[in-house]
Amino acid sequence: MHSNSSVNVAGGRIGVALLGATGSIGTSALRVFERQRERFTPVALTAYGNRAALAEQVAQWAPAYVGLVQEHADAPESWGRGAACLVEAATHPDAHVVINAVVGAAGLPATLAALRLGKRVALANKETLVVAGDIVTRTAREHGGELLPVDSEHSAILQCLAGRQPHEVKRLILTASGGPFRTWPAERIAGATRVDALKHPTWQMGSKITIDSATLANKALEVIEAHHLFGVPYDRIEVVVHPQSIIHSFVEFVDGSVLAQMGVPSMELPILYALTWPERVPDSGVPSFDPVTSGDLTFEGVRHDVFPMLQLGIGAGRRGG
Ligand code: NDP
Ligand code: MG
Repeated sequence: MHSNSSVNVAGGRIGVALLGATGSIGTSALRVFERQRERFTPVALTAYGNRAALAEQVAQWAPAYVGLVQEHADAPESWGRGAACLVEAATHPDAHVVINAVVGAAGLPATLAALRLGKRVALANKETLVVAGDIVTRTAREHGGELLPVDSEHSAILQCLAGRQPHEVKRLILTASGGPFRTWPAERIAGATRVDALKHPTWQMGSKITIDSATLANKALEVIEAHHLFGVPYDRIEVVVHPQSIIHSFVEFVDGSVLAQMGVPSMELPILYALTWPERVPDSGVPSFDPVTSGDLTFEGVRHDVFPMLQLGIGAGRRGG
């Protein structure tokens, strides 16, 4: 791990700023901290408007900094307010690592601010890379900041790439569950409701990414994310539908060998790996993998005619800017 200033807080633990603490990834991250109390401690927590949930987390963790974006009459005086609180949390001197689990482009300024200070950013907020991938990766390079993916596919790729050189990589293959409409005919999808779209078959996530997964727009965002994280051109990044979400992605190497990372779907492992990379540590909380009970692993092509968002999104990524 990076060894710049202000690393250790009390007891040699690493201080973490958690942006978007009240969301799906945020609460998974807090479960990781519960199991990793010797290694990590949240020193800053932020939320958008969910004051009550944030107050409960603050009571449990007593972080040095708390930020709530929305104005709230009964939010404590000591809490940071407004969009600026994300940057204040990310640049807090006790925070050596920042987990950015905010949804949407609102996460960008905090990611940039943390990277400028040479911090590690464990990035769930893929929109940061979609809207400004070139700027974000350049900022990381120039200031010695580290950008580690939390997204499960990108964590899988990072794990497959361990110890390899860029010239050894031939192709990245991202897996996609296919979402709730994977097998639906186009006419039925046309009549789908919001409730149908929110029924993700394999992952429990926030509503924005769940809806994006139903249209495969999320996979387009992930292709753009992979392009920026790993510096691989778009024509060497592919997508395959894998309904069981056991294989989290593949990397094909120039000698024809293909590595995959697999396991029971859980975001706690990618969150932990982004914090400890390149090390692996015990107690990820992920159930032990049993190949027999996990059943058949199947793969199919994307129905591009029914899910046009994937190619549209990748096209936007290729145009860049
Ligand atoms: P959620 O909607 O569950 O949580 C979003 C969090 O960000 C909440 O804490 C919310 O606060 C806060 N927030 C929302 N809008 C803003 C804003 N404008 N400014 C500051 N804070 C804001 O989302 P997820 O946890 O599902 O997703 C977070 C990110 O992680 C997204 O980029 C998503 O694509 C990515 N991701 C998520 C995965 C998952 O399993 N959930 C998997 C892979 C990636 P409040 O609760 O107060 O509204
Ligand atoms: Mg993903």
